[in-house]
Amino acid sequence: MRFHDSMLDLVGQTPLVRLVGVADGSGPLVLAKLEQFNPGGSVKDRIAVGMVTAAERDGSLRPGGTIVEPTSGNTGIGLALVAARRGYRCVFTCPDKVSPNKIAALRAYGAEVVVCPAAVPMAHPRFYRNVAARLAAEIPGAHCCDQYNNPANPAAHYAVTGPEIWEQTQGRLTHFVAGLGTGGTVSGVGRYLHEVSAGAVQVIGADPQGSAYSGDEVRPYYVEGVGQPSMPDAFDPAVPDEILTIGDAEAIRVTRRLAQAEGILTGGSGGMAVAAALRVAERADPDAVIVVLIPDSGRGYLTTIFDDDWLAGRGFTEPADGVPVAAAIG
Ligand code: PMP
Repeated sequence: MRFHDSMLDLVGQTPLVRLVGVADGSGPLVLAKLEQFNPGGSVKDRIAVGMVTAAERDGSLRPGGTIVEPTSGNTGIGLALVAARRGYRCVFTCPDKVSPNKIAALRAYGAEVVVCPAAVPMAHPRFYRNVAARLAAEIPGAHCCDQYNNPANPAAHYAVTGPEIWEQTQGRLTHFVAGLGTGGTVSGVGRYLHEVSAGAVQVIGADPQGSAYSGDEVRPYYVEGVGQPSMPDAFDPAVPDEILTIGDAEAIRVTRRLAQAEGILTGGSGGMAVAAALRVAERADPDAVIVVLIPDSGRGYLTTIFDDDWLAGRGFTEPADGVPVAAAIG
């Protein structure tokens, strides 16, 4: 009989798929690493396993304990999966710009969710990360994994995701592109790839306009799960060779083209990362091999960036290049 012992055994070993419809097929090989194939539907399953295992090992999480985490959804789902299997309670905080579907999914896994305002400064007591810190202090037996500052986050990518990409490409990749959220993916995968290739692989972070990674002036943006108002400890600024800044309109346009031209339904941050990969492809040698990490599925964004009315209400019918979103897709 062939079966797995638990959903946790299905984390990782996600496929690489060549992009043709968004890159025109004549330039470098652009390979999308589809993290939606993880059991919780995103790349965050990987760090959830890593962070919980590390907390169990060092005694900060004990049987029957509570996992408290500030999460915009995907990390929460990963943690909830691990918690379901290993017997922990979950309490999550998230900003109110997160789509209702994602919050409903967290609750479906049995987690308690505290929704906090997105439009408050980082020092504000109602900022979702500050609320999580307070709850972790108040609830007995609680542990906050704190993906933003937990070394187990980049360590999971260094130990697992990086070697996986290197093996899948038989060491032939030349560029790795991923979005910067906590910075864990770029820092962990990037460090591994730099080491194993003796510096030959270029590591590129993609950051939304309005986020601090690229030194941009901090301001609101719509793409979820990427960018930060300040640099977290999970991010090692020495790792990326370059950070590309992508605006909402470009990220959304590429996200929608991915669905229609490639059959890849992902969120705005996946589109943002692919937009960055396409810029890299434009200037790279034709024999370059570019791996771009697509973090999750687009199912959680059907009522936001895949909804024309939602976009129009936020001024995205006329993006920067003057092409209406709907026309650019068709
Ligand atoms: N790549 C993309 C495109 C993302 O959107 C994300 C976060 N949602 C990641 C990678 C992972 O981010 P990090 O490890 O920096 O938190």
